[in-house]
Amino acid sequence: MLSRCRHRLLLVLGLSFPPPSRGLPLLCNRRLMKPLVVFVLGGPGAGKGTQCARIVEEMDQTMAANAQKNKFLIDGFPRNQDNLQGWNKTMDGKADVSFVLFFDCNNEICIERCLERGKSSGRSDDNRESLEKRIQTYLQSTKPIIDLYEEMGKVKKIDASKSVDEVSVLSLQIKVK
Ligand code: ADP
Ligand code: MG
Repeated sequence: MLSRCRHRLLLVLGLSFPPPSRGLPLLCNRRLMKPLVVFVLGGPGAGKGTQCARIVEEMDQTMAANAQKNKFLIDGFPRNQDNLQGWNKTMDGKADVSFVLFFDCNNEICIERCLERGKSSGRSDDNRESLEKRIQTYLQSTKPIIDLYEEMGKVKKIDASKSVDEVSVLSLQIKVK
């Protein structure tokens, strides 16, 4: 399962898998901090992609101001136990998971948003039947991962049923450290 997510991880982290034995490209200078990672989770249509795009603009500015702040968002990962085990096995000691940013949104709102997105996204899975299955998969496989991080005190939850701008304001108040 991790390999299926490899491309996405590569894009977000800018890393190669498996990481080269001499260290991550980001860490060629040993004095640099380990990358700080935020897992971004929530149901399909909760607004993960929308908010990540906005947060990244802010993070880019932060990183430009201080090259040692290596912060990364991973959108929609880990989705299940298999993803999490793959992450732990591959990334142990190479990156610190700061917290899970949880976009908490009512299932029906999620479905309605995806149906709306489907009108222009071209995503074949943005239809009601497939969305109801994706919500079930989210509840059965992803929500337990969020609960696991919650038990560790590592979940920052945002009410994602609010408007895009309201959710953005809440998201941007959260500091990654
Ligand atoms: P996800 O990545 O969690 O599946 P997206 O960011 O792709 O969700 O958002 C799904 C759809 O809902 C998109 O069409 C997006 O424009 C819209 N959307 C995202 N956040 C909100 C919001 N807070 N209120 C209303 N619509 C939203
Ligand atoms: Mg998305």
